[in-house]
Amino acid sequence: MSFFYGDTKESLNNRKNFLAGLGINYRDLICAKQVHSGRVRYAKEEDKGSGALSYDNSIPDTDAFITDKKNLPLAVFTADCLSIFLYAPKASVIGLIHAGWRSTKENITTKAVQLMKKEFDIHAEDLCAGFGPAIRECCYEVSAEFKDNFVYGLKQKSGRYYLALAGINKKELLDLGVCEANIFDSGICTSCRNSEFFSYRKEGRGSGRMMSVMMLR
Ligand SMILES: [Zn+2]
Repeated sequence: MSFFYGDTKESLNNRKNFLAGLGINYRDLICAKQVHSGRVRYAKEEDKGSGALSYDNSIPDTDAFITDKKNLPLAVFTADCLSIFLYAPKASVIGLIHAGWRSTKENITTKAVQLMKKEFDIHAEDLCAGFGPAIRECCYEVSAEFKDNFVYGLKQKSGRYYLALAGINKKELLDLGVCEANIFDSGICTSCRNSEFFSYRKEGRGSGRMMSVMMLR
């Protein structure tokens, strides 16, 4: 689905077909040049179509979007990284996050929720969250040096370290006041289920990218 790697024409066709099923025009899609940062953008009407037809005009240096505008389809691309969907039904506000370990270290989830609170006056108790497929602690091995990046979320197994990317982001949401019952986790590991999902770690640089999309109607 991404233009970042592989055949752009084929990606465009894949997007078109997938989005048609959701009643979304692929030309409206808002995509970012994802850089594994903690930066969140409030997407508005003028962003519509950014990155929809070419990578070059994607929104630069961004890894999450929030919006209260209708008919603005937000997209993030992943292959092992975690996509996080946020929805505040009362305020009618959404957020979509690309959370790899670097963005998670930058607390991108907290930053997205904080920006939602600032812009739209939402309360954490009203927030629902969903986690897409991502590499999980069963497969996400990290080095012994890496473990200093996180104080929480590292599992030790037979002297090796594994990162719980979803677990860390879930803890952040709970710490912000989001109710556990409102956090929905697909629980899917992209590496374990590589026949159905792209996994950067399993496939290497040539791996495709999955697209997570969210839009208010
Ligand atoms: Zn796994």
